[in-house]
Amino acid sequence: MPELPEVETIVRGLRRSMPRTPLSRVRLKQTKKFASRPIASLVGAKLVRITRRGKNILIWFDDGRCLAVHLGMTGQLCWTSPSYRPDRHTHLCLEFTQSDQVLHFRDVRRFGRLKLYPSKARLLAEAAMAKLGPEPLRISLPHFKELLGRRRMIKALLLDQSVIVGFGNIYTDEVLFAARIHPAQPAESLGPLAVARLYRAMKRIFKQAIAAGGSSIRDFRQSDGQLGRFQTSLKVYQRTGKKCLRCRTKIQRLIIAGRSTHICPACQLLDS
Ligand SMILES: [Zn+2]
Repeated sequence: MPELPEVETIVRGLRRSMPRTPLSRVRLKQTKKFASRPIASLVGAKLVRITRRGKNILIWFDDGRCLAVHLGMTGQLCWTSPSYRPDRHTHLCLEFTQSDQVLHFRDVRRFGRLKLYPSKARLLAEAAMAKLGPEPLRISLPHFKELLGRRRMIKALLLDQSVIVGFGNIYTDEVLFAARIHPAQPAESLGPLAVARLYRAMKRIFKQAIAAGGSSIRDFRQSDGQLGRFQTSLKVYQRTGKKCLRCRTKIQRLIIAGRSTHICPACQLLDS
């Protein structure tokens, strides 16, 4: 599933080649999942900006409307040329006047979401948006400390988008390894030094992953179809049985918070 760095990479890529002309045609596959007549009413509107909130991509038009896209597990949003032949997994194509850029939304497993909002106010009022937690790259250390003052396991807490946005399984494992924290550690039991390590690791790893264009583990592609490069920098995620790069102990796979979790049992001790 695309996490913060992958979604941010898509947003930056989409922004680089945004057509400035009005939308001329909307092709929407009328599947139960994505059928939404309001999206077709975007014809004539101009794209003004593309932003990100958590793992949501927000496509803004000059009449104030916003198309919110969540990539789910396998969603892909990219610019292609008009000669691109949409396949059966392509659910939406947006074409623009006098432009050879076509915006495609493809989703093999169909866990993605597309929704058009009439205004920013309506988008922000939507429960799923309103309850999103703060952005990891903007949050201050004191605010981050406050979020962790709970009894829940740190991994479960980081994965909860209403606590903090952007984390999925890859970056939770990587950030906890970098901070030498066991994923099952109750968040409130972390001392100030551990919290500061976690905070710094989060900022550093998210920034490095964005700079590398995200991690391409399964289907992730940047908006121009290129693979991300951060998967080669992953230290624990999906390295079960391989040696820890810090201490050479074998990386273990556990199930924590219902999710497959990778740790170094020597570097990430559970403190009781
Ligand atoms: Zn280790």
